[in-house]
Amino acid sequence: MDRVTQVIAVVHAGWRPAVAGIAARAVEKMAALGAIPGRVLAAIGPVIGPCCYRVGEEVAARVPPGARSTALKKEETGGFRLDLGALNRWWLTNAGVPEKNVFSAGECTACKTDLYYSYRKEGDRAGRMMAVIARLR
Ligand SMILES: [Zn+2]
Repeated sequence: MDRVTQVIAVVHAGWRPAVAGIAARAVEKMAALGAIPGRVLAAIGPVIGPCCYRVGEEVAARVPPGARSTALKKEETGGFRLDLGALNRWWLTNAGVPEKNVFSAGECTACKTDLYYSYRKEGDRAGRMMAVIARLR
């Protein structure tokens, strides 16, 4: 949200949209509506963390090279750990959002199924989460 122009957006950024840069695309769309990226505040909600999110080479190869050092960790046994929060943070800052303006819940949905749902961990039994954003006056 840009506090001056009041442009707000909610974006779902699972791995496919995250590797494709949906967070940056959202900032670009907001800028087209008058927001200034340097004033945007961004919040990254609870997300499956790198502690629980193993991905294969087919996913790792789609992570932008500039983000790999922060968003990917290669496992000794093969495969990778993907940090979706770090990847989305990378996209946001590359779109001009100051690092200090990007907030993160910092919680792993798969580690905390008492608080959140995780389809990856719980499969079809998982409930659904929703995000709500409101414009306050
Ligand atoms: Zn975890």
